Amino acid sequence: MHYFSYAGNQLYCEGVSVEALAKKHGTPLYVYSQATLSHHFQKLDAALAPLEHLLCFAVKANSNQAVLRALAALGSGFDIVSGGELQRVIAAGGEPSKCVFAGVGKTAEEIELALERGVYCFNVESEPELQRINRLAGRLKKTAPVAVRVNPNVAAQTHAKITTGTYENKFGVAFEQIEVLYARAARLPHLRLRGLQMHIGSQITGVGPFEEAVRKIVPLAHRLRAAHGLEFLSIGGGLGIVYQPALASGSPWWWESAAAKDLLTPHQYAERLVPLLRPLGLRLLIEPGRFIVGNAGILVTRVEYVKRNGKKHFVIVDAAMNDLIRPAFYDAYHEIVPVRRRRALTVKSDVVGPICESGDFFCKDRPLPRAAEGEYLALMSAGAYGSVMASNYNSRSLPAEVLVNGNRAAVVRERQPVQAIWSGEQPAPWQK
Ligand SMILES: *Cc1c(COP(=O)(O)O)cnc(C)c1O
Repeated sequence: MHYFSYAGNQLYCEGVSVEALAKKHGTPLYVYSQATLSHHFQKLDAALAPLEHLLCFAVKANSNQAVLRALAALGSGFDIVSGGELQRVIAAGGEPSKCVFAGVGKTAEEIELALERGVYCFNVESEPELQRINRLAGRLKKTAPVAVRVNPNVAAQTHAKITTGTYENKFGVAFEQIEVLYARAARLPHLRLRGLQMHIGSQITGVGPFEEAVRKIVPLAHRLRAAHGLEFLSIGGGLGIVYQPALASGSPWWWESAAAKDLLTPHQYAERLVPLLRPLGLRLLIEPGRFIVGNAGILVTRVEYVKRNGKKHFVIVDAAMNDLIRPAFYDAYHEIVPVRRRRALTVKSDVVGPICESGDFFCKDRPLPRAAEGEYLALMSAGAYGSVMASNYNSRSLPAEVLVNGNRAAVVRERQPVQAIWSGEQPAPWQK
């Protein structure tokens, strides 16, 4: 669900007109709804209330300081994957003691930073990493809390680039090798075996794969708890969201964006998983990213040109793959709606950006109301893995971002000034 809807023919984010924001702040523009992300956080948090739990927002999905601040205020913990993300969380008022540090390639500098700041746990992905953390903790006279990420080898039934829980990919330690590894880790003096972690992939739209993985992991967690006194089990993130409301609701696509229901509700998720997890008596951690912020953001863009070549109808907009790479990278679908609705014939359109790549498109041959130069379009469900993946390709500035809360709106990231794109560059000495 989300708080973007039409009032009359105007698209609103909560109580604020999207067109007014686009006129005031320019485009491309990310617009976030604070009520939407709060709603998702609170729904999930409430559904897990029967268990002692901590929800750790996956910072890599959207790391804007204002987004992190809103979640920290709700009591969120954070799932971080770099030293930079840890520093971001701290800058936004998040607590390191509620941070879990994931990732296959943690450097010595990142581990030291996390030890000094006191993260809740390192989610470890290999034996060499355990040894490195042990060594660095010893040097700093600290005990490092660790959990190993177990790869349960279940298919998440999602896109190949976001599947992580099978032996085909680089993540985690094979299920069969976990107990031996914990036994060896228990002999490393500067580690505390605090938990067990898994994460099977992203944009999972049914509870089935989670249930399969949890059923597989629970007996293991039981044995590890008995042997090593674990405190928590993290079942990762990966809860999917609706990108195509028409598919989800069976109704005509562009009237339904506000009515789109969640595919996988917190209630369904909790109803199936809590009974499996409760007997363990372990604290539960979950690490949702997309579920919290995905539907909470849109990317607003302006139509620059409409171009026909006899075969195709191209709508050339001022946003591009550097602003939102998901269609090019994951073949992702984003619903595209007019910010101001009007009577218009439907035309099969390719909505494309200005970048010199044929991968720079947002949709192909999609029936859309005939677009007009100067009008604004909204790419829906762009709150997760949107602005965080933006780049300066083609020397395009990173887009501005606005956070809406009720009737208020604030710029939470300035549009990048163009000189800032090359501010770290300089001529070589022999060129001066
Ligand atoms: C990316 C990631 C998440 C969040 O995934 P979502 O699909 O956004 O919920 C959680 N845990 C780990 C370890 C991750 O790598």
